[in-house]
Amino acid sequence: MKAVVYDGPKSVSVKEVPDARIERPTDALVRITTTNICGSDLHMYDGRTDMQPGRVLGHENLGEVIEVGDGVDLVKVGDIVCLPFNVACGFCENCNKGLTAFCLVANPAPEIAGAAYGYADMGPYNGGQAELLRVPWADFNCLVLPPDARDLQRQRDYVMLADIFPTGWHATQLACVQPGDSVAIYGAGPVGLMAALSATIKGAGKVMVVDRHPDRLRLAEQIGAIPIDDSKGSPVDQIKQLTGGMGADRGCECVGYQAHDPQGQEHSGLTLNNLVQSVKFGGTLGVVGVFTPQDPGGPDPLQKQGKVPFDYGMFWFKGQTMGTGQCNVKNYNRQLMNLIAAGKAKPSFIVSHELQLDEAPQGYENFDRRVEGWTKVLLHPDG
Ligand code: NAD
Ligand code: ZN
Repeated sequence: MKAVVYDGPKSVSVKEVPDARIERPTDALVRITTTNICGSDLHMYDGRTDMQPGRVLGHENLGEVIEVGDGVDLVKVGDIVCLPFNVACGFCENCNKGLTAFCLVANPAPEIAGAAYGYADMGPYNGGQAELLRVPWADFNCLVLPPDARDLQRQRDYVMLADIFPTGWHATQLACVQPGDSVAIYGAGPVGLMAALSATIKGAGKVMVVDRHPDRLRLAEQIGAIPIDDSKGSPVDQIKQLTGGMGADRGCECVGYQAHDPQGQEHSGLTLNNLVQSVKFGGTLGVVGVFTPQDPGGPDPLQKQGKVPFDYGMFWFKGQTMGTGQCNVKNYNRQLMNLIAAGKAKPSFIVSHELQLDEAPQGYENFDRRVEGWTKVLLHPDG
């Protein structure tokens, strides 16, 4: 089958690899029809992880079930399914608690809880930027979509259920966003825009989104958020000005350790510290931007060890609370699917490009360089 393979820093290619197949009775085999490039893929693309060359990328996957193992009861051949990026067993202690991002079984590496498709040290699973994908524990890991999901146009919305819509929602859950709240969001990439959409759906009174790319800020504005351009002045000051001086009620971090200042200089703690400053005393913060325990390709020695300069004193002084981590996609994806099906959420507003699988290298390069207009890239393996 054809698949997008990681070759090394700043290099992916589309290659023939052995077909994905049923390996265990609980597996399903999915023919992928829509699969996305994610900001999380860029950590690998940028050479910042221990991703091994030769692995297939892709954790935002949607397609049709074409075969199921003998132990699969609920999912049927012909179902159109979206696959949460977390690979989870469904029955360990953490899965039972809803912590599917921290499954104790799916990742065989010692001392790591949690697995994902096509992701560095997150288990042995290949990704879905390919013609076929093996889905382990298929009854647990497939979200069966409504009939309209057969339509490629509708897949533009439903595919966001694999990761970024639930992740944006998770940011607002961790930040405890309530109706009427003011919410500061750092990052207008796909995840930040999904957090803005989620806060809006939850009835937030004022949603402010910080970035410096005009195309991304325009998308934030398009869904009713206030764009904050940090190349035009301190984002903290701009947010305080809009919130009566003390800052927002809630804050979401959707950038991660590869945060840059508007001049392009990387500072791993920049957005965390800006967020603490931007949110009021007693406020709550949700951090879904990725921070890693190790950053082998990082530019400075501290960062290589995953250490992040964080103004803990100010955070403590302000009495804030912070929630962090990978999203447990299954906690939210069914309800968010229902919002999409009912026409009450259209996360596809961020889609900028739909490419054939062969065009993936160009998609990676342009999305990584944040070329104007390249906000979210979808790949269609079957053309
Ligand atoms: P992205 O790289 O497309 O977007 C990041 C955005 O942040 C860019 O628009 C960039 O201009 C902006 N940015 C950079 N520095 C900034 C700063 N100092 N202030 C404000 N904005 C700044 O990526 P994405 O797909 O939107 O993902 C964002 C983060 O979320 C990544 O770290 C990704 O790995 C992570 N993520 C986490 C989860 C999870 O489960 N927790 C899931 C998916 C993605
Ligand atoms: Zn993703």
